[in-house]
Amino acid sequence: MLLKLNSIYLKRFYVQSDFFGAPIVEHADVRRMLMTMKAYIEAMRGLVYITAEAIDISTRHPDPGIREPKHELLELLIPVVKAWCTDLGSEVASLAIQVWGGMGYIEESGVAQHYRDARISAIYEGTNGIQAMDLVGRKLPMRGGGAVKDLLGMIALLDPCLLYTSPSPRDRTRSRMTSSA
Ligand SMILES: Cc1cc2nc3c(=O)[nH]c(=O)nc-3n(C[C@H](O)[C@H](O)[C@H](O)COP(=O)(O)OP(=O)(O)OC[C@H]3O[C@@H](n4cnc5c(N)ncnc54)[C@H](O)[C@@H]3O)c2cc1C
Repeated sequence: MLLKLNSIYLKRFYVQSDFFGAPIVEHADVRRMLMTMKAYIEAMRGLVYITAEAIDISTRHPDPGIREPKHELLELLIPVVKAWCTDLGSEVASLAIQVWGGMGYIEESGVAQHYRDARISAIYEGTNGIQAMDLVGRKLPMRGGGAVKDLLGMIALLDPCLLYTSPSPRDRTRSRMTSSA
């Protein structure tokens, strides 16, 4: 659904004009919303890939020493991936309505239907409130908190990689400003 939002509507931002005849994508606030949607979608996709990999390895790997820690990670991630991605999916669909302004709100544009479709995902397959109870009541105490500590350790290891492989937005702006000076 989120991919569909991306592909169907992006090209229309370039032709739909506002009161002054400018394409709405030229407005900073519209770009902010589009980039926020993109960042959320990429983060959700990343988490879904990590969870999918954990499913594959925990069910198929021949070595139990590799299979079992992945199974533990999977157990921990399931309520997180379900609740976080479905809450954020609603937020992304809501931003899509905002990008379209009044046209987004009225049913004829089709954007509002995406919001309604995304909204149910936080309710079914275990409401997100139930997912939260699963996380706190069953998953965080796994191995005396060891499973969540391992996950936080993995996240901490990513920080230096991200720091050194891609310049921060502030560094990119600074380097653009220095090169244009
Ligand atoms: C369009 C649609 C399609 C569906 N498709 C299916 C399907 O294919 N198969 C299927 O089995 N079901 C399906 N359902 C049912 C769906 O799984 C339930 O609606 C969902 O599990 C929530 O249950 P409920 O509606 O009874 O809400 P309730 O359980 O009454 O929940 C209401 C609120 O109370 C909270 N709550 C409930 N219990 C607790 C608790 N113990 N502690 C704290 N908070 C709690 C919930 O988080 C929620 O916020 C579908 C529902 C819809 C709307």
